[in-house]
Amino acid sequence: MRNETVRNTAVTNETTRTYDVIVIGGGPVGENVAERTRAAGLSTVIVERELLGGECSFWACDPSKALLRPVVARADASRVPGLDPAVAGPLDVERVFAHRDRMSSYWKDEDQADWLNSVSVDLLRGHGRLTGPRQVAVQTPDGDTITLAARHAVALSTGTRAALPPIPGLDTVHPWTSREATTARKVPGRLTVVGGGVVAVEMATAWQALGSQVTMLVLENGLLERMEPFAGELVTDALREAGVDIRFDTTATSVHRDGGEVRITLSDGTQLAADEILFATGRTPQTRDIGLQTVGLTPGDWLNVDDTFQVTGIDDGWLYAVGDVNRRALMTHQGKYQARIAGTVIGARAKEEPVHDAPWGTHVATADHTAVPQVVFTIPEIASVGLTSREAERSERRIEVVDYDLAQVAGAHQYGKDYRGRARMLVDTDRNTVVGVTFAGPGVSELVHSATIAIAGEVPLDRLWHAVPAFPTLGEVWLRLLETHRG
Ligand SMILES: Cc1cc2nc3c(=O)[nH]c(=O)nc-3n(C[C@H](O)[C@H](O)[C@H](O)COP(=O)(O)OP(=O)(O)OC[C@H]3O[C@@H](n4cnc5c(N)ncnc54)[C@H](O)[C@@H]3O)c2cc1C
Repeated sequence: MRNETVRNTAVTNETTRTYDVIVIGGGPVGENVAERTRAAGLSTVIVERELLGGECSFWACDPSKALLRPVVARADASRVPGLDPAVAGPLDVERVFAHRDRMSSYWKDEDQADWLNSVSVDLLRGHGRLTGPRQVAVQTPDGDTITLAARHAVALSTGTRAALPPIPGLDTVHPWTSREATTARKVPGRLTVVGGGVVAVEMATAWQALGSQVTMLVLENGLLERMEPFAGELVTDALREAGVDIRFDTTATSVHRDGGEVRITLSDGTQLAADEILFATGRTPQTRDIGLQTVGLTPGDWLNVDDTFQVTGIDDGWLYAVGDVNRRALMTHQGKYQARIAGTVIGARAKEEPVHDAPWGTHVATADHTAVPQVVFTIPEIASVGLTSREAERSERRIEVVDYDLAQVAGAHQYGKDYRGRARMLVDTDRNTVVGVTFAGPGVSELVHSATIAIAGEVPLDRLWHAVPAFPTLGEVWLRLLETHRG
């Protein structure tokens, strides 16, 4: 333990170490909570049982985007006249895997441990559990138990893991979850993907391009059902063009492994064979074994929080839940935003400073309710923030839906031939501000932050009219949307 932190750490007895703040879970969110509480002058320890950096660095964002980047870049390049012949061949799978491995730091977390050290946060490796208010027991890898006490706060950032459906035979087939789908070293000849959400479409895109024959079993009648319908439709078209067999209104009802082959019985009674089966069927919170019962909460539940991330129903407000585990927005960037806020408000409360918890104040995550951006790295890319038209219908607000064919924008003509895309902007007609945007098309991922600024900044449309997009970029879609709105 470093000297600086020792000064901040009171040893209450021989076996209990006391910190101002204990963070359980050292994923991207826990790391950022700790960095902020330490910056506020509070002694802080992170308890991590696996790898610092969590799911995102090693089994989710980083490896998945590393697999997808060559796929998406090749699709873009194949639409650029003169460049197209250069990318006509298959991907170099071994080099893609090597890139993925490097982007995942070879599943080693020394760099992140060094960073934690550089910001003077202590690291305790092991499984953390609450044992009562402000009390935590850590089971270390060598079997010891270390007890910790928090003067001010315990923050739970234990994240989620893949949820598997309870279907017969699952335990016999060793199914892929997102972890295997992002880290596999061999391309299965036939891969069945169960699910139609973000992980399912991204991994179907990647593995079909890497050489698998992918079949998707989708319970719903479309892909990406939580987004605008045109997003799923464009991705469906592109996946089918790439050779993916997509079966809607279908799921797996039982599975078993027969020799090397996975045999799948489908909901319509037919059979399907595959070499591997990936379940991309949602996430479940990692709260089953973190001692929630010792503070009156239910193990296995998602953790409900207020906008400052205090867990509801806990006396004295010492318990916080930040990131995926609170189910507000299961994405790294939004979890890190929550972490910045939670860490700062823990600091303010510890120092008895004023808490600014009015909407958009320093200590509340107002954007979680109105401006959560998301990018799906498929062909084409999907980028959205704020409300969808379906959500707007359910709200009390008066909304105008403004659509534009992204292919008509000059920047799209330059981007590549046969560009296909759509843009939708939702306008709150009472307030004259943008409340939702969805872009679907090649290259749109970099557009989404402009929409996030418009929504979070509640920029009046009359002022947005003066934000001139450069010619010829995809950003000109803003001008076209505003012109369409003005009629
Ligand atoms: C395939 C896939 C791709 C994704 N791609 C993106 C993307 O491109 N962009 C994006 O923004 N989001 C993406 N996400 C979502 C992103 O991974 C999560 O939102 C993010 O990892 C959440 O961070 P977290 O810190 O809350 O939890 P996690 O990253 O899950 O970290 C939790 C940490 O807590 C530790 N832990 C759990 N219990 C204990 C315990 N009892 N004691 C000690 N340690 C414990 C775990 O070991 C882990 O390190 C993706 C998710 C998946 C599955």
